[in-house]
Amino acid sequence: MASNRFTNIHSHIFTSTEVPDYFLKTIIGNDWIARNLNSLFQKKMTLNAMKPILWAMKAISPNYRNSIERYIEFIQIGASSTQGEIFDREASAYSGIGNYRIVVLTQMLDYLDVNSKSNHKRIQTQVEEVVQLKRDANYQKRLYPFLSVDPRMTFMEPIDWVQKYISKDMGFYGIKMYPAYGFFPFDARLDPVYEWAEKYEVPIMTHCTRGGSWYLGTFDSVLNKGGFMAPGLNEDHASMTKIRGRINSLIADKDKHKNNKYWCNIFGHIENYEPVLAKYPNLKICFAHMGGATEILRPKKDKSYPKYFDDNWYEMILDKLANHKNTYTDISYTLSNEKAMARIKSDYVDKDFLKYKVLYGTDFFLTQVEKKGDEPNMLSTFLQLFDQASIQKIAYDNNENYLKSKIHPTP
Ligand SMILES: [Zn+2]
Repeated sequence: MASNRFTNIHSHIFTSTEVPDYFLKTIIGNDWIARNLNSLFQKKMTLNAMKPILWAMKAISPNYRNSIERYIEFIQIGASSTQGEIFDREASAYSGIGNYRIVVLTQMLDYLDVNSKSNHKRIQTQVEEVVQLKRDANYQKRLYPFLSVDPRMTFMEPIDWVQKYISKDMGFYGIKMYPAYGFFPFDARLDPVYEWAEKYEVPIMTHCTRGGSWYLGTFDSVLNKGGFMAPGLNEDHASMTKIRGRINSLIADKDKHKNNKYWCNIFGHIENYEPVLAKYPNLKICFAHMGGATEILRPKKDKSYPKYFDDNWYEMILDKLANHKNTYTDISYTLSNEKAMARIKSDYVDKDFLKYKVLYGTDFFLTQVEKKGDEPNMLSTFLQLFDQASIQKIAYDNNENYLKSKIHPTP
């Protein structure tokens, strides 16, 4: 059935008080800039107060001149005092669009580095704040929250956590996962969650790029000697042999162990979903970002990765979408890259199965660090790129099918 609600399926409204002190390190490529901006971020300075510092930083780092301004913009949004304020800012981009809703993904950042201390508010508080927003008549009809789940959570069993919040009473609609923070999607501790999600047709959103942010602890703290390597929920499945082979190749590839951005790719590798989908073939899951612009544009002959790590995530996602019925993907973040979107558009036109699988999303406000990444720009890029019939599918109908579950039959 045709939906009449425009939907942004992927965005974030957490404030700086919800993220660990060291979080910016993973968003901003340059360490020195990240450290300096982070101290401003924690102090919650106004843009005016930041200006002299900003100029000094620009003078010292000419290569980052333009991006510093965007980083500041990003930080300004994050430094808003409530999640409601950040939502308002995002929502203002849609005021001209009529009937709309925005999916807000909570983010469990408490295990980003098991060795460092941080004073941020924990996930329980982040989620409770969102529950209050969802109960507020001003937000209720437009805000659709997803619940972050991590198999390492110790304050509650993951299954109790999802059953409590993904309910009519608490108002959450789906599950958010971020394997690059240090866990495998086939982790056996997630098994009951998948079983429940499949049974109730509850949507899962999972981060799928080689970049973004990632686990900041040591390689050995999650893999290798003394570290933890998750038992698979479907250990006998044929794909596990390949997956274990890849993990072992990485363990042997010692000079990569210091580069977290690189080795954390092991967690979100698309093949890791194969044993999950084999066990739960009707699982409703969205592979976010379509693998990311870098991967979409990476030439076949590219030598950035050794053979065991070389699979193209975009192609692997297309393969998942073609072969598993309740799988989806979204164009969030990737929408800020013109060339990647041209490739997506042409594949969308060519491949029939994609017509029911692609969802509009932006990844607000993490995209703020990109040149055309602010919300009004992202929306207009999308509206200009696709024709009316495709917009109806990508921003209305597909999203509604994805959101619909036995918990919320009419989202
Ligand atoms: Zn995101």
